Amino acid sequence: MKIILLGAPGSGKGTLAKQITRDFGLPQISTGDLFRAIVKEDSALAREVKSIMASGALVPDELTIEIVKNRINQNDCQKGFILDGFPRTVNQAKALENITEIDMAILVDLDFETIIDRLSSRLTCPACGEIYNAHTYNQQSCQKCNATLIQRDDDKPETIKNRLEVYEKNTSPLINFYSDRLFKVSSKNSAEETYRSVKTFLDNFGG
Ligand code: AMP
Repeated sequence: MKIILLGAPGSGKGTLAKQITRDFGLPQISTGDLFRAIVKEDSALAREVKSIMASGALVPDELTIEIVKNRINQNDCQKGFILDGFPRTVNQAKALENITEIDMAILVDLDFETIIDRLSSRLTCPACGEIYNAHTYNQQSCQKCNATLIQRDDDKPETIKNRLEVYEKNTSPLINFYSDRLFKVSSKNSAEETYRSVKTFLDNFGG
């Protein structure tokens, strides 16, 4: 299965991707994670990507498409994958059509007010990527790998606002682009509840 996760930043795509990976064995391809890995390098590209991400803007399509294409061509993706955070523009979606055929787009739907609350209290493990919420998790370190949790630069209030504007303008038109293979799920309730309806859908897909 080749799956795209659509939805605003902070809607819960990453959490959902990890649950699907766990049960269906499909690799999660998060362009945000791929870019965060690039940013750790010492290069002109790393510095450029870092400043784009810190502002909440999108990395140019050409570079983003190239990175995704290389990742999809790796062996572990031949039976399918979950794209988390890509495509984010119609241009990227059109380029993806030329790379491979996507079976479905899952839209993780959440109102902006809840997103702002969740993102501004989100704590991320810089080592393993695990996500916590400061309202419900009152420790400093990751339960899985013990690294000290951080607030991502782009989870700060000014950048959140910009990311949501970028989503509205550039990414939300993709809901229409994938309307012939779209499954919509609300992430207003718990992550388990969200996943339950996605799992039922995936279990019955094509069968
Ligand atoms: P995310 O972790 O998915 O919220 O992504 C973090 C940041 O990485 C975004 O705000 C963008 O700056 C960049 N990024 C991630 N995916 C894409 C994409 N498909 N196109 C352009 N920029 C992206």
